[in-house]
Amino acid sequence: MRKTIENVFPQSAGPGMVGDGFRVFNYFPNRELSQRRVSPFLLLDFNAEIDFSPSDHIRGVGVHPHKGFETVTIVYKGSVAHHDSTGSSGVIHPGDVQWMTAGAGVLHKEYHEESYSKMGGPFEMIQLWVNLPAKYKQTPPKYQAITADRITKVVLPDEGGTVNVIAGEYGGQRGPANTFTEINVWDLRLNRSGKFEGRIPASHHTLLLVVKGSVEVNDRVIGEHDLVVFGQEGEEIEIRTKENSVALLLSGEPIHEPIAHYGPFVMNTTAELETAMQEYRTGKFGSLR
Ligand code: MN
Repeated sequence: MRKTIENVFPQSAGPGMVGDGFRVFNYFPNRELSQRRVSPFLLLDFNAEIDFSPSDHIRGVGVHPHKGFETVTIVYKGSVAHHDSTGSSGVIHPGDVQWMTAGAGVLHKEYHEESYSKMGGPFEMIQLWVNLPAKYKQTPPKYQAITADRITKVVLPDEGGTVNVIAGEYGGQRGPANTFTEINVWDLRLNRSGKFEGRIPASHHTLLLVVKGSVEVNDRVIGEHDLVVFGQEGEEIEIRTKENSVALLLSGEPIHEPIAHYGPFVMNTTAELETAMQEYRTGKFGSLR
């Protein structure tokens, strides 16, 4: 049985700036799309393609904490650098993914990589927050550098395109990301007149963001920058294209636990949030300048 489309959300009005380096449209959480509905995902910010002018000032967002979940950064255009309080750092270029487990608590900063910043040009990226179940919220922070060469590539039949399996499994092939719950993150690069077919358990919450171009799902045209929320019936997804398109397919087994979210902290209870803020204030997440 085919998955049904429950809802299609267009790009929200007006982007917001995260620091001075990320011009993002927020798709969730908001009044229309709650964290409960998209669990285990918590937040989706999409920096739709824009040109940044050349700059000697490095744009980005300064030192800030996270606790209780994971941040996943997918770069399509431009380059992003990061540093965190565990001593990890790295640069992600187009096609690369940074998968940071904040877990018990971390400080980090995220900014444009220096040579990209000086040169300027197109910039396009996604930041996704993935929740951790209660039993893993205190896991030590870690960082997975998932460079493009490590990402599993599954070629679709009839020159349909390529599925870059970042996390989970497609066509019997697993992606490189280690995840704490069952999650699929598939970067779809679809050719004109291509067809993608996939199977995802009915129990998963399943989302599709059209990054570039447009696609057809269940004979409905899904435009550029639209987000599809699938219903929780059926397992089959079929996506057709009339133009070269890029889309991000996300699915995951929901975490059936209460969510307490305040800014960069996501816990199960308000008391745990207060503890998290106390830990942050008293330097328990380490130091980073
Ligand atoms: Mn951050």
